[in-house]
Amino acid sequence: MQRQEHLQRLKEQQFDILVIGGGITGACIAHDAALRGFSVALIERRDFGGFTSSASSKLLHGGIRYLPKGQVWKVRESGREQMIFQRLAPHLVRWRPFLIPTEHGLSLTKGAWALKIAMKIYGLCHFGLKNLLDNPARQPPQGEFFDVEAALDVAPQLSSVDRLSGAQVLFESHMHSSERMTLGFLKTAVSNGAAIANYLEAEQYLTAQGRIEGVAVRDTLTDEQFSVRARLTINSAGPATQA
Ligand SMILES: Cc1cc2nc3c(=O)[nH]c(=O)nc-3n(C[C@H](O)[C@H](O)[C@H](O)COP(=O)(O)OP(=O)(O)OC[C@H]3O[C@@H](n4cnc5c(N)ncnc54)[C@H](O)[C@@H]3O)c2cc1C
Repeated sequence: MQRQEHLQRLKEQQFDILVIGGGITGACIAHDAALRGFSVALIERRDFGGFTSSASSKLLHGGIRYLPKGQVWKVRESGREQMIFQRLAPHLVRWRPFLIPTEHGLSLTKGAWALKIAMKIYGLCHFGLKNLLDNPARQPPQGEFFDVEAALDVAPQLSSVDRLSGAQVLFESHMHSSERMTLGFLKTAVSNGAAIANYLEAEQYLTAQGRIEGVAVRDTLTDEQFSVRARLTINSAGPATQA
C-alpha cells in the first residue's frame, strides 16, 4: 500500500488506537494491537526507527543486570523476550558471546565464585525457556568459565585487569540492525491492517469533554494539516514525549 492510501485512511477513518512515534516502542504497540484485531494508526515525524531506536547498541539482553537487585522475575521476563525475538526474527538476531572478567578475592561483584553462583541462578531463571525455540539450531550456546590463560588467549586486553582470575562467557542476543527490526514490526502491523505513515508530526491533542480524541497532524513533506481520530491515543514519542 502506498503512502497516499495510508494518508487517506488516516484522514478519514476513526481508529481504535492511534500511536504517536515509529520507534521500536510504537512499532511493537502497533504490531501487537493490530494482531489483536484493533484498528490501528501510527504516525512518525521522521524516518521510522531513525531516532533513539537507531542509536541502540542493539543488544536484546537476557537481563543479567537485574540479578544483583534480586529481580529474578525480570531476569526471566527478559530471557523469555529474548527467546521470542530469536523466534520472530531469526534473520536479524544472533547469539553473541560476552566475556565478563573476574578478580581474585571475595568481591561480591567481581569475584569468580560470586559470578559462578550468579550464573547458576541466571540459568535457573531461564529454566524451560529454550522450549520456546522450535528450531534447535537457534538454541543459545552453553556459556563457560575461562581460566586466566584461556581468557587472555581470547582477549589479551584483559591483561590490564588487576588480579585477573578468569572470565565468564555469557551469550546474549544481538540484532545487527535495530532499524530493520523496527521496520519489520511496522510491516507486520500493516499486513494486519494498520494505517501507518511517516513525515507526519503530531502537533497537538484533539480533546472533547476532557478526553483525548486524537491529534492534529502536520505533513512535513507538504505542510498539509489534518486530524487523526482514535478512541485511544498512545504517545510513544520516546525522549521527545511531551505531556
Ligand atoms: C546509546 C544507546 C544505547 C542503547 N542500547 C540499547 C541496547 O543495547 N538494548 C536495548 O534494548 N536498548 C538500548 N537502548 C535503549 C533503546 O534504544 C530505547 O529504549 C528505544 O530505542 C526507545 O524506543 P522508542 O520507540 O521508545 O523511542 P524512539 O526510538 O526515540 O522513537 C520515538 C519516535 O517518536 C517520534 N516522534 C517524536 N515526536 C513526535 C511527534 N510529535 N509526532 C510524530 N512522531 C514523533 C520520533 O521521531 C521517534 O522516531 C539504547 C539507547 C541508547 C541511547
